[in-house]
Amino acid sequence: MQTFTLHTHNHEQNFDGRNSAREMIQTAQDKGFSTIGVTNHLIVHPNMPSYTADMPMFFNNFDEAEKVYMRHIEILQNLKSDFKIDIKIGFEVDFFTSPDWRKHFEKMIKKLPVDYIISGSHFLKEKDESFICNIFHFKNIASSIDDETLHRLIINHFDNIIAAIKSGYFTFIAHLDYCTIFGLGDTPEYDEYKYKIIEALKQTHTPFEINTSGYDRINRPHPAPWMIELLAENHGSVPVLISDDAHFAEHLGRHFDQAEDLLQKLNYTNRFTLDMLKKP
Ligand SMILES: [Zn+2]
Ligand SMILES: [Zn+2]
Repeated sequence: MQTFTLHTHNHEQNFDGRNSAREMIQTAQDKGFSTIGVTNHLIVHPNMPSYTADMPMFFNNFDEAEKVYMRHIEILQNLKSDFKIDIKIGFEVDFFTSPDWRKHFEKMIKKLPVDYIISGSHFLKEKDESFICNIFHFKNIASSIDDETLHRLIINHFDNIIAAIKSGYFTFIAHLDYCTIFGLGDTPEYDEYKYKIIEALKQTHTPFEINTSGYDRINRPHPAPWMIELLAENHGSVPVLISDDAHFAEHLGRHFDQAEDLLQKLNYTNRFTLDMLKKP
């Protein structure tokens, strides 16, 4: 049984978790975890839509974001001495492909004293990133987007995940098929992009998570079991870990038993270990 949980959120500094960092860490310790990784969202892009202006975790400016992230790390570091459980500090990063974004991101991430970062792609986008939209907010603008445009935005979303894998920045890749929770990209015409994601993981030996929030949201883990099955060949072609993506303390470790059963059934023994955490 996995004794760590490395993809969790909290509401320090108005990130989108519902419990404080202290409550999350205390609960993880009480539940018997030996390590908790804190991975609030790192979302910065100059073309962040204007409706995110009053949403404190969306930034259109790297300098502003950096100050918040620095303070966040300090808050977490100060908590360490109050707990027995090992606390790892990371971020769930929305990766973008434009050279300008990468330049600013690389400059910032070098300064942030994190243990690791994970990739969580949450955006639909045009290739040149002149338009980006968090999938969570897509319902608000869906009526203004025609089918052809939507198809293109979804393909770009999958391509972005592939680019994130190939960037080499990330300790592991979160929720490979996030958009399917929202009913986007879940038809067979998008399978070819999911195959490409699997291929990129194998080529780069990049670990991925089974995200158990899916059991609550769409009655299955994500990525979809057929993707996990393909990655399970030869005892697992890349290391896998189980994540709860907890935004509430009571979600810590949710459905880990079900995911463990699935991995056992697939004879997936290539498991992620804590020595695989890497600083970007
Ligand atoms: Zn996410
Ligand atoms: Zn998350």
